[in-house]
Amino acid sequence: MSSGDGRTGSVPDAASVANLTDRSGRFGLRLAMWYTALFIGSAFAVVLITYLLTSSSLAQRDHEIIQSKLGEYATVYAQGGLRALAATVDAEQRTSRERVFVRVLDGGSEAVLLSNAEGWDPSALEVGTTALLDGAIIQVGKSTEARSDILRRFRASLGLITLSIILIALTGGWVLTQSAIQPIRRLSSAVRHIIATGRTDERVSPGADDDAINELTLLFNAMLDRIEGLVQGMRGALDNVSHDLRTPLTRLRGNSELALAAEPDLERYREALADSIEETDRVLVMLNALMDISEAESGVMPLKREPFDLNEAADRAIELYREVADTKELVLKSGVRRPAPVLADRVRIEQAAANLIDNAVKYTPAGGSVVVDVETLDGRAILRVRDTGQGIAASELPRIWERLFRGDRSRTTRGLGLGLSLVKAIIEAHGGSVNADSEPGKGSVFTLSLPQQA
Ligand code: ADP
Repeated sequence: MSSGDGRTGSVPDAASVANLTDRSGRFGLRLAMWYTALFIGSAFAVVLITYLLTSSSLAQRDHEIIQSKLGEYATVYAQGGLRALAATVDAEQRTSRERVFVRVLDGGSEAVLLSNAEGWDPSALEVGTTALLDGAIIQVGKSTEARSDILRRFRASLGLITLSIILIALTGGWVLTQSAIQPIRRLSSAVRHIIATGRTDERVSPGADDDAINELTLLFNAMLDRIEGLVQGMRGALDNVSHDLRTPLTRLRGNSELALAAEPDLERYREALADSIEETDRVLVMLNALMDISEAESGVMPLKREPFDLNEAADRAIELYREVADTKELVLKSGVRRPAPVLADRVRIEQAAANLIDNAVKYTPAGGSVVVDVETLDGRAILRVRDTGQGIAASELPRIWERLFRGDRSRTTRGLGLGLSLVKAIIEAHGGSVNADSEPGKGSVFTLSLPQQA
């Protein structure tokens, strides 16, 4: 938890927020341009491929017609000679829609038959040639004019197609990018509003589509939930700490004031200063404990989770209190022990176990015993501290986990009333739970339960 200056430093000024608006506009424009360029590029590729395919299939068709004619004429020539060929060509020329040019050359390259002599222009014709058995050559030509005409019209309409493609691309690009950046706009407007007002209870309503933007919106809302929870936790923690520290600080001030108001007396001053030091120490210990509790309760306590066995934590905590227990003539020992692996912050769990043993030793008179069990039950790792001490009155039992609560019979014993609150906060921060059973005059049983490591 830090003071207010951290917050001021992280709030952007109005100019940088305005810049963000510009950027989202520019992003839309860039997206539209990319979309348009891509659309135009691919449409052009499609048109070009269509043009090339049409042109080559028209050429192929002409070639096939010429080859079939050549075959046909060669057969007629072989069977009936030049006269029969001339008659066939003549008859075909009258009925056929397509004009075909036919030329027969004798061995000396003299044209002996020529149909459509006036149109015989090899540069405007697709010509096929085949040699006949008697050494003559037959040539069939087909005008490329019709084919060129189709392709010319195709090219002429390209201008119109280009214009339509650009128009469709621009409109489509604009409409699509607008609808694509709409949810982003809503997100950034919510963020801007939160920055401007400092309110974290604002949420962005998600769209109907199950897409990436919607996922981002849901994640953003979940992040706001988390931030809001943390901010509230921090606020509550700050309120609690300031409230809880007020009493000891007022007492500290009162002691000093009393000493100053009385007649000057060195001994009295000494006593007042010693009291102040003691009280200040108490306040410092209290402050640390309160901060730990608040951190754990609000979910910001850093937990260094590692795999270990609860038995290790129990043994270390027992060792810590061995001497105190001996001095108090108490038996402090291990009871039921079974492996209980957990994935947790070793130091914090040891601290929780130590707090329970500290209480058990504190509230058990000489001659009594404190036993620490470790086992697993239904997938939970259990650490139990049993004592034969004074016990807790049924009316007090529900309140012992509260911050600063101290039992009536415990007031004379040292303590701040924060030990059990810290235990509860630490264990719950690990996803565990705590429980206490007690019979006044007979003893108490405190149980910590943590998820067992699989
Ligand atoms: P503190 O021990 O400083 O008073 P805790 O939060 O540790 O504060 O405990 C709260 C209260 O719960 C104690 O004041 C005491 O009344 C009661 N308590 C806790 N542990 C035991 C115990 N083992 N036996 C009897 N009473 C206990």
